[in-house]
Amino acid sequence: VNLQKAEFVRSAAKASDFPRDRLPQVAFAGRSNVGKSSVINRLLNRKNLARVGAAPGKTTHINYFLIDEKFYLVDLPGYGYAKVSKGERERWGRLMEEWFSDNTLMTLGMMIVDARHKPTADDQTMAEWFQGSGRPFAVVANKLDKLKKSEIASNLARIRETLGLDETVKVIPFSAEKGDGKQELLELILAHAGE
Ligand code: GDP
Repeated sequence: VNLQKAEFVRSAAKASDFPRDRLPQVAFAGRSNVGKSSVINRLLNRKNLARVGAAPGKTTHINYFLIDEKFYLVDLPGYGYAKVSKGERERWGRLMEEWFSDNTLMTLGMMIVDARHKPTADDQTMAEWFQGSGRPFAVVANKLDKLKKSEIASNLARIRETLGLDETVKVIPFSAEKGDGKQELLELILAHAGE
């Protein structure tokens, strides 16, 4: 399986900007620098659809991309960047509340974490939002290429435990750099949003 066409649709800063047509919406969240843009670009075979490394944490917009005229890929703004102002952090929180409070919007949630590290308090909060939404949800453990083989199983278990995931939630080992996990992630997305 593969995805072909991706077009930028809009950038939303408030609930009234969210598209509300019938198309499925697959939402991606993650800490700044976790590789969210790289994961999205890998899925879409793009070099920089989502701008890699651009102004980390500066964005308090939700970016919508229409994929193969079938579903929206929803790029939620990164979080956990130390240098954002209090005002920006509050704007981010309000925008996320607006997004998660309307649970008709999200078809599938996707949270990206760093395979090397124990998820942070911000990651735990984000996982609670996803789990509380009652919508299907999966975790992508990115930067797998940075782990030794012997570390993989225990790191994935630590992610699952720290985020309090139940067995229905998949944790997908992934490397945006090398491509590991791409097919599994694509299949999951298409199973939920593929028509
Ligand atoms: P974002 O802020 O979450 O969108 O993160 P970016 O996509 O900009 O990536 C942050 C940094 O991590 C960049 O230097 C990427 O090259 C690097 N990166 C992203 N994914 C991977 C990966 O799977 N493996 C490795 N080794 N580096 C990665």
